[in-house]
Amino acid sequence: MPAQEPFPGAAFFHKGQHSPVITAMGKRLVAEGCGKYRTSPGPEWTDADRESYAAWQHKLGFSASDADGTPGQQSWDRLHVPATSGGGHQVSSPVPGHAVTTSYHKKGPHWSLGYHTGADYAAAKGTPCVAVLSGTVRAGQDGSFGNYLVLRSGGFDYWYCHLSERDVTSGPVRAGQQVAKVGSTGNATGPHLHFEKRPAGGRFGSDMPPNW
Ligand SMILES: [Zn+2]
Repeated sequence: MPAQEPFPGAAFFHKGQHSPVITAMGKRLVAEGCGKYRTSPGPEWTDADRESYAAWQHKLGFSASDADGTPGQQSWDRLHVPATSGGGHQVSSPVPGHAVTTSYHKKGPHWSLGYHTGADYAAAKGTPCVAVLSGTVRAGQDGSFGNYLVLRSGGFDYWYCHLSERDVTSGPVRAGQQVAKVGSTGNATGPHLHFEKRPAGGRFGSDMPPNW
């Protein structure tokens, strides 16, 4: 049997999620006779995925909240989704559906270094933030960045700041996995994600263009 895609966690499955894992899952649901798709499945998570997955959960004998269409570990393992490997998940924004609203290195007196050390994504409080790459996260808190998460991946640290909530506070995460929600904690005038990149372990001021 080919390698299986590991369960990415229930929080991975949310509106706006765009991943080859969704496509691979959908193809398996169709093969199991559970497909509720009007077009071919994936790569975006939709209501058709939820309906199809709920049909799979019912087929396995789950009911009520265990058959609500949100994938769980047990039903996922029994679906045998083939590993998507290789290129991995492409994440186009740390706040899916939202673009940069205040750019990196913009100059201004209200930034302590005289310029903006990251890129801001303005969005309503509670908007999901996702890991831009697979890696490991840790959580922290301070007066300027508020509640933050640091994602370490490939020799870099990606800082997620001003969060209202963290969905994960430590350990491994996958690209595209929901890790936190937008907020305005710390020194922020309104809800937004301040997204900053540094070399792994780099201090404030070692920022670099926040691409991934
Ligand atoms: Zn900022």
